[in-house]
Amino acid sequence: MEIDEYERSLQHSARVLREASLDAFLRKVMCDTVGSERCGSVRIYVVKDSSMNAGMFPNGMMLVNTGLLARLHSEAELAAIFGHEFAHFEKRHSLNKFLERRRSNDWASWIALAGAAAAVNTNDTIRDLRIGLIAFTRLQETEADILAGGLVVGSHYRLRASYVWLRVIEEEDALRAERGLRKIRRLVPALSDDHPTNEQRFLYFAKQESEVGDWGEDGTEGYRAATSVVLPILFDALIKGNDFAVADYVIRSRGEALGWDAPLLALRGDLYRLHGSPRDLASAQDFYQQAIAKPEAPSSAWRGLGLAQLKLGNPAGRDTLADFLKRDPAAPDANMLKMLLEN
Ligand SMILES: [Zn+2]
Repeated sequence: MEIDEYERSLQHSARVLREASLDAFLRKVMCDTVGSERCGSVRIYVVKDSSMNAGMFPNGMMLVNTGLLARLHSEAELAAIFGHEFAHFEKRHSLNKFLERRRSNDWASWIALAGAAAAVNTNDTIRDLRIGLIAFTRLQETEADILAGGLVVGSHYRLRASYVWLRVIEEEDALRAERGLRKIRRLVPALSDDHPTNEQRFLYFAKQESEVGDWGEDGTEGYRAATSVVLPILFDALIKGNDFAVADYVIRSRGEALGWDAPLLALRGDLYRLHGSPRDLASAQDFYQQAIAKPEAPSSAWRGLGLAQLKLGNPAGRDTLADFLKRDPAAPDANMLKMLLEN
């Protein structure tokens, strides 16, 4: 019941991105992955959140973060994520299952089993309950991944989930490098991890992929087109967040996989402009100019270029901003920019 109420509140929430063409695309990929009968029970909502997450609730409500859509590169990758969430839903994976077990007589042996899976001894019950629960969650994650692989293989999509986890590993490397930390590789989860490690996921998907063989559709162009419509919204939280290295990695990996179109170049310009060192501002100018050179350049490229030029003390910024206002007179910050130009 509480979940239904939450879903009703979502329907009017500003945190939800509503774009009919994107919603139709997501539904199509879901139905192509799990089959047209089973996808009827799923309702998908896109949530404006920079983290790479999706989740499905027992009532059929599924949440997909913009941060996830920004990081994926194809329908086939999305199918693997949808398959994973759908497997949780169909298997009714949840905390309740763990608690039911706990109430029944076999809970102790069950915790011992989960404890064994987590390679811990199960002497201290309270501690073990917690560790057992985490290990249980982790086992469910692994089960959902394996079932997801099966769903993708049963669809027309190519099984390519290992690439998603490879990029998650690279993204973490980029973040650690920015913070002056060494790379880490973990093939054994920590006791506190409720997921298998990224490295484990990469390896078991790569193994499954090599067993299945290389066939099926990627749906790269379909994915690019469907997400391009809302690109600035998909990247907004990432660009305005605090992890420059992460946002830059995610933008770069999309550019390398799906091509550097003008909207993506303009977003990279925004990221560097907001980061703000003189060297970043020079890079930002460069990205905006590359965007402007393309026929499909968004007006935001002129706005960003003008602001970057002014910050660098280049008077040409005034003309560039005037040009932007001609292109987009109804821009939300038009009045503010006009005042800036009058001074
Ligand atoms: Zn999961």
